[in-house]
Amino acid sequence: MRDSRLDPLFAEATTLQGVGPKVAKTLQRLLASAPEEGPRVIDVLGHAPTGAIDRRARPTISELVAGEVATIEAVVERHQAPRSSRAPYRVVVADPTGALTLVFFRAQGGYIEKLLPLGETRWISGTPELFDGAFQMVHPAHVVDAEGLAKLPAVEPTYPLVEGASHGLVNRIARAALERVPELPEWLDAAFLASREFPGFRAALERLHAPQSPGDVAPDGPALTRLAYDELLANQLALRLVRARMRRGSGRARVGTGRVSERIEAALPFALTGAQTRAVAAIRDDMASDERMLRLLQGDVGSGKTVVALLAAATAVEAGAQAAIMAPTEILARQHLATLEPLAGAAGLRVALLTGREKGRERAAILTRLEDGEVDLLVGTHALFQDDVVFRDLGLAVVDEQHKFGVRQRLALASKGAAVDVLVMTATPIPRTLVLTAFGDMEHSALDEKPPGRTPIDTRLVSLERLDEIVGAVGRAIEGGARVYWVCPLVEQSETLDVAAAEDRFGSLNQVFPGRVGLAHGKLKGADKDAAVARFVSGETPILVATTVIEVGVNVPEATVMVIEHAERFGLAQLHQLRGRVGRGAGRSTCLLAWKGPLGETAKARLETLRDTDDGFVIAEKDLELRGEGEVLGSRQSGAPEFRLARMETHGALVRVAHDDAGLVLAKDPHLTSDRGRALRLLLQIFERDAAVRLLRAG
Ligand code: ADP
Ligand code: MG
Repeated sequence: MRDSRLDPLFAEATTLQGVGPKVAKTLQRLLASAPEEGPRVIDVLGHAPTGAIDRRARPTISELVAGEVATIEAVVERHQAPRSSRAPYRVVVADPTGALTLVFFRAQGGYIEKLLPLGETRWISGTPELFDGAFQMVHPAHVVDAEGLAKLPAVEPTYPLVEGASHGLVNRIARAALERVPELPEWLDAAFLASREFPGFRAALERLHAPQSPGDVAPDGPALTRLAYDELLANQLALRLVRARMRRGSGRARVGTGRVSERIEAALPFALTGAQTRAVAAIRDDMASDERMLRLLQGDVGSGKTVVALLAAATAVEAGAQAAIMAPTEILARQHLATLEPLAGAAGLRVALLTGREKGRERAAILTRLEDGEVDLLVGTHALFQDDVVFRDLGLAVVDEQHKFGVRQRLALASKGAAVDVLVMTATPIPRTLVLTAFGDMEHSALDEKPPGRTPIDTRLVSLERLDEIVGAVGRAIEGGARVYWVCPLVEQSETLDVAAAEDRFGSLNQVFPGRVGLAHGKLKGADKDAAVARFVSGETPILVATTVIEVGVNVPEATVMVIEHAERFGLAQLHQLRGRVGRGAGRSTCLLAWKGPLGETAKARLETLRDTDDGFVIAEKDLELRGEGEVLGSRQSGAPEFRLARMETHGALVRVAHDDAGLVLAKDPHLTSDRGRALRLLLQIFERDAAVRLLRAG
């Protein structure tokens, strides 16, 4: 499958000199892009230095400056072996301008004598410091003879490290890896390359791992910028190819009659916001066109996406097709159903639910009705992907909370019908540059206007040391008829410990408020979880202790208090999502961010941001600033892009350029068969956008 010219890059790192099983294990921990099967040459090359030590300065001893790295040429004059085992071994070296003492702690005498033979000339590189008025150098980084000098890197890159790895080790391996980089045809446009003064791909990697000046490893230097651009371009090309594939052979115009949607709008207890109206209109236009719809609907929690989805579904049904709404969790799917059913009922839409819990005869009955076209709208979870789920004519797929799903799943649902229109909804506001990197040129609507009548949430930071006061406040709140969420965090990323923490908290709160506390977490059986949420909704247990299972989407308008325990352990976007569970009704809501000190700078900045704003877009930008793009998109679970070399802080402006570049290339050469196109196929493989390459093959 892969172009054989790239085989040396995808060879196992253990084929490099100096990489045995032990080093390979270290590399596995070090290299973020290494697959489970073990690190490869390409993973080594993709581990970019973050700085460099410049050893080019060659002063005489009299010219040394304390603290500045220097490489000097000197003759070995005297060895002073230590008198006690704790004293250092000293060697005095000199040039015509003066003398310098080299200091070695815990050194083997024999080793030093060999390294610095009396009367010989040596080149010594390190950082001089002043000690008692004279220069000394403690553990010089390099001591070499004339032959070694020829091989001494003038500029030494420094890398992000893990235990067991040193800069020297990583650099030695990277240099060995450089020798495996084949000469490849250039995939960037010649004029663009020249105007940006970018080196070629191979030359860029060489500058990075064998730098000639510190500028060669700078994040905004030509080498890293070129490679970052390559990566962004690969990503944009891949997104466009996926999209082109989804659109290919499309062209089913689905024009609504208004028959169903008018009845839904009449049944709504409120008027649509301006943003909702605009989004619905855009969706109707998309669906009415004979191109396939691929639209992202972004809107903060509580911004009213569900109604928009329902109206989109109504349009599909009016056009004679079926619609599906897919949620990431069972709770959410049920919640959607509960919200949609009354409205759908009023409009004569037939709705069904399909999750992992519908089994046996019940499931079979749903599937039959679906296939016979007796279900207009199917709401569910991943269960919708299963092979035996067959629609009579699926016209619209709505995918809620998209960042939990990957591209592949999106394609899977869309393939359950002919030319299915796709609406992706996300409650995680995504900064603008990231919309491009994650979704390419997907059409995009934002619900940037909250439904009226919401009172802002009063957010406060409280130390967990004041737990008694927090519990007291919760008590007063439930006296007054409020519902309280109490969220316990992930402990060490372990679900078991996580559940234990929630169970502990449940136990202690239940002692204070006997019989008034419920518990919901990821390990509960579906029915038990539902029951817990139901008792919370009914007010039987007005306190609900939960893990982050309530993170997405749950809608209990009566809930007005949110306590987040160990708030410092959550990410900003997650805190924002959690807080969005309250403030949904008319009542005034409170969110207590209970933190445990000592708080780091970033944790403090996160909590303060949250206290000071509830604008999801502001929070998303801040999140990007504090964490970097991978985590903002929650990419690890989702298959959203994870970049090896591109950093949005530094290379964000190139996203737009790569986006346009990809558009131009594919407009002229949609199957990548020209010379440049074929070179770009190599690029896609290097950055492992293989799914996109497969699409090319298939078509
Ligand atoms: P989201 O899915 O975007 O988080 P929902 O669709 O669940 O938000 O809507 C949150 C709440 O706001 C629901 O109770 C819904 O009925 C209500 N709502 C939606 N649109 C409006 C509107 N235009 N005016 C008033 N309330 C609305
Ligand atoms: Mg929702």
